[in-house]
Amino acid sequence: MTVRVRFAPSPTGYLHVGGARSALFNWLFARKMGGQFLLRIEDTDQSRYNEQSLQDLIRDLKWLGLNWDEGPEVGGPYEPYVQSQRLGLYKKHAEELIAKGFAYRCFCTSERMDEVRKRQEENKLPPGYDRHCRDLDPVESAARAAAGEAHVIRFKSPLGGKTVFNDLVRGEIEYQNHLLDDLVLLKTDGFPTYHLAHVVDDHDMRISHVLRGDEWIPSTPRHVLMFKAFGWEHPVYCHLPVILAPGGGKLSKRKGAASVGDYREKGYLPQALFNFLALLGWSPGDDREKMTLPELIESFSLERIMPKSAAFDETKLEWLNGQYLIDTPAEDLYVEIRRLLELRGYAPDLAAKPEMLARHVGLLKDRSKRLDELVDTGLYFWRDPDSYEEKALAKYWKPETAQRLGKLLPKLEAVDWTASALEALYRAETEEQGIKFAELIHPTRLSVSGLSFGPGLFELLEALEKATVIRRIRVALETLAT
Ligand code: GLU
Repeated sequence: MTVRVRFAPSPTGYLHVGGARSALFNWLFARKMGGQFLLRIEDTDQSRYNEQSLQDLIRDLKWLGLNWDEGPEVGGPYEPYVQSQRLGLYKKHAEELIAKGFAYRCFCTSERMDEVRKRQEENKLPPGYDRHCRDLDPVESAARAAAGEAHVIRFKSPLGGKTVFNDLVRGEIEYQNHLLDDLVLLKTDGFPTYHLAHVVDDHDMRISHVLRGDEWIPSTPRHVLMFKAFGWEHPVYCHLPVILAPGGGKLSKRKGAASVGDYREKGYLPQALFNFLALLGWSPGDDREKMTLPELIESFSLERIMPKSAAFDETKLEWLNGQYLIDTPAEDLYVEIRRLLELRGYAPDLAAKPEMLARHVGLLKDRSKRLDELVDTGLYFWRDPDSYEEKALAKYWKPETAQRLGKLLPKLEAVDWTASALEALYRAETEEQGIKFAELIHPTRLSVSGLSFGPGLFELLEALEKATVIRRIRVALETLAT
């Protein structure tokens, strides 16, 4: 069997990490099995459709490194891959189900539906359509439709028996048919519901496996029944366990995690997020945490998807990102760091000193866990400090400090401006003054960066250049003298 899988988002909001994880598992499975990965846009809920979110979705999938073999932008043998462009197909299939006796037209008005709901509430009955139109005479039904009377098309769920299907993660799942209501297949506006559209498309596009979030499990018996009614074989189902927020509960924007776009803005690398999401509910069977793309593809298998819900551990994501930052050549980060600096208003400084970008990235890359941290802890590469860390001042700025640094200043003016010459100068100077190395080093770092931490001091001084360092030490001596 050729493996054909799909990611089928509804473009109604941002690409959530849960959706991204589904996309990624589908992609990995296709790549592992030498199959095809499709992107299909499920935009049949026109009231919730949003063009911008479709663009964002495509951008975020690409940013993560996911490419599709068939779908929007690339085309394919089952075009179009956007459901709103396939309406004729769904209508034809809904009518086919009516003809076969598996579906019926429902002319109930929204007023009637409201009344039904009210009555059910009053009598404490489970909600759902009361099947009022299920047994309408087919000739009358066809005549009313031909006369233009508004209606939906509903699936005729069996009233007895049970529906059983196998799920690769959960095993056999069984539903009593009498609990399934007669769901809508085609709406009054002629648009299909998700249920009809995805069944028709999964068949039409020869989808072999459906990997999707396990919130779809309760809908799956209806899907299985629809496949049967059409006389088609249903795909293999594999429902992915839900992702929990750190500390439990549903993952939400407020609870730590959000959209893929938010993680990009927070300064995560796509490779790190990819690696992290791949291990969310799946494991390679050993304790590897950092895995390259070829390693992930090579080890991926549906059997090792874990039935237990996975917790989103942002600390682990940060750690992983730090590891990826160490591996990434500095040059590969310039574009993104430039963008983050520009966002923070440093465009003129970037233009005035383009060589500073390489120094900033080079010196802080391996010390940072995220790109925003890399930028924000290194703003002194671009501007003089506007304050000094209070705690560090209390600790390192002694009454004698100004005099000690003052003695060093003329020697700084004269020294050859390299990290090694600077280090030699500091060593000689502390010896001459009879003080500890630390007594010159910490006040110097504070003066030039305002911070108590950062890259190796002498590399930093070399990177900042002589004039800047001397100016900043002078300012610190004046500011901190009182
Ligand atoms: N359009 C559905 C969603 O947005 C897809 C569900 C499925 O994969 O079948 O989640």
